[in-house]
Amino acid sequence: MVAAASKGIGFAIAKQLTEEGCRVSICGRTEETLEAAAAEIGEETRSYVVDVSNAEDLSWWVEQTVQDLGKVDILVTNTGGPPAGPLAQLTDDQWQTGFDGTLMNIVRLVRELQPSMAENGWGRIVHITSLVAKEPSRVLPISSTLRAGIMALTRLQAVEYAQNGITVNSVLPGHTLTDRQTHLAELRAERESITVDEALVLQASEIPMKRMANAAEIAAAVTFLCSEQAAYITGTNILVDGGLTKGLA
Ligand code: NAD
Repeated sequence: MVAAASKGIGFAIAKQLTEEGCRVSICGRTEETLEAAAAEIGEETRSYVVDVSNAEDLSWWVEQTVQDLGKVDILVTNTGGPPAGPLAQLTDDQWQTGFDGTLMNIVRLVRELQPSMAENGWGRIVHITSLVAKEPSRVLPISSTLRAGIMALTRLQAVEYAQNGITVNSVLPGHTLTDRQTHLAELRAERESITVDEALVLQASEIPMKRMANAAEIAAAVTFLCSEQAAYITGTNILVDGGLTKGLA
């Protein structure tokens, strides 16, 4: 199961897992874009209209996937980024939206799927978060706060389920060329009175590799963590950021 996979990083993950032989269940909010994505990923891909911030939607997705594809071995919790903006201007509603969509979806999906993975003695769970989990961003206070919390949650889930053959890890992307990055560049362009193209060039120039990631480079780390070879890696939070994070990771 790969959540929020109609485009961007989620889509790239679903595609790579399919190439590795998985039958993939994807979800997203819009039927049209989801169906187009599923067709591009592969003919056995199933797609379901789900808002990951909605508890009932998530239960329904799990139920339908098990019914249509059988047991779930791999769960990738991806989602859209939570609301951005300066700390002083963020409303309670924006914080709540961020919490439901970014953190509670992880709690809920793992709680639903963990018992069957434990019964099978095998499971791979990967959360897609952000480099701001390790280096808080003034532009992304909600994301920074929640993603730091998800690092702790990842470790807790890993310890809790390790004896059942389930690994739980997070992948922390840096600047990646997707619609989300274009949105962040638009916000920067507005803040700094520059064009969106200039903002994108600036974003890339700040990365030691002097370029942004493409979504497939993030997916590669996820695909490895979902493999048999990664059986002994659990509870980690892996940066895929071209060297951007300055602290000791
Ligand atoms: P994106 O905007 O390109 O794609 C997000 C996908 O999530 C879309 O398919 C969208 O339809 C879906 N989605 C959004 N909200 C949803 C919801 N409530 N329910 C179901 N589906 C939903 O974003 P992306 O760049 O692929 O980012 C994926 C994740 O990685 C985000 O959480 C983002 O914060 C994080 N991230 C991205 C970057 C980057 O530079 N792109 C950097 C760090 C972290």
